[in-house]
Amino acid sequence: MIKVINSVDDLAYQKWDVLVPTMGALHVGHQSLIEIAKTKGENVLVSIFVNPLQFENKEDLNNYPKTLEQDIKFAQAAGATAVFIPDESTIYPGEIERVSAGEIGDLYEGASRPKHFTGVLTVVKRLFDLVKPKAAVFGEKDFQQLFLIKRMVSQLVLPIEIISAPTIREENGLAISSRNIRLDKSGEKISEVIYKALTMPTIEQAKNEISNEPGFKLDYLEIIDEATFEKAKPDTQNKRVIIAGWVNNLRLIDNMPMGIRK
Ligand code: AMP
Repeated sequence: MIKVINSVDDLAYQKWDVLVPTMGALHVGHQSLIEIAKTKGENVLVSIFVNPLQFENKEDLNNYPKTLEQDIKFAQAAGATAVFIPDESTIYPGEIERVSAGEIGDLYEGASRPKHFTGVLTVVKRLFDLVKPKAAVFGEKDFQQLFLIKRMVSQLVLPIEIISAPTIREENGLAISSRNIRLDKSGEKISEVIYKALTMPTIEQAKNEISNEPGFKLDYLEIIDEATFEKAKPDTQNKRVIIAGWVNNLRLIDNMPMGIRK
C-alpha cells in the first residue's frame, strides 16, 4: 500500500529521490510526471497541496477540484512510493519568507494573476526545504512556471535537479488539465482552437485561427525565447509559442516549440 504522509516528522523516515509537486485532482498528465520520476529514482514522493498563496481569487481556490481518495489510489497505480498531503499550517507554520518571481513573474500568466508566481515559488521552495529531494519533476504545460522554478534553483544554488516533462494532451490536442472538467461540449469544441493556433507555421496564421473562433477570448499569444523568456528575436535559437485565454470563464494556457506541425 502507498504511504500517506501528513506531517513533516513522518517525511523524514527515508530519503526522497524525486518529488512530484501537484495540487491534486490527478490525471494522466500527473501520471506521466510520476512515471518519469520513477525512471530517475526509487523513492518518489507526490505532494498534494492546493496552495492558497498562488490563488488571487478565493472563489477559484475554493472551487479547485478535490478528489483526495481517488488521488491516493491514482498515485499508487502510477508508481509513487508515498503521497505527502500537508495541511496549510504544515506548509506555512508562521511568516514564511516569500520567494519573489521578479519581473518575469509579472508577465503573461503573472499579468493576469498578480502574485501568482511568487506564491508558486514560495510553496515550491518550502516543499524543497521540507522534502530535500535529489530531483523534482514539473510539466512543460506550465512553461513560465517551469522557467521560473529552474531560475530559482539556479539563483539559490539549490542541489536539486529540475526535470521537465512533456505536455500530455487529449485526442483533440487540448492539454490535459484538472480544470478541463468544467468545459461543456461546446467549450471543448471551442478550446480546440488553442492547439490549432499553436501548430500553425506562422504567428499570423495562428492569430487568424483565433479570430475565426469568437468563443475563445485571447489573453496573450507570443513567441518567446526559451532561454530568457523575453520576446523572441529573428536570431533567437529556441523559440516557443505561448498562449492563454478564456473559454466561457475558464482560463486555459498552453505552449509549444515554434514550428511544430502535426
Ligand atoms: P497542478 O496539479 O496543475 O499544479 O500540476 C502539477 C504538475 O503537473 C505541474 O508541474 C504541471 O505542469 C504538471 N501538469 C499538469 N498538466 C499536465 C499535462 N497535461 N501534461 C504534463 N504535465 C502536466
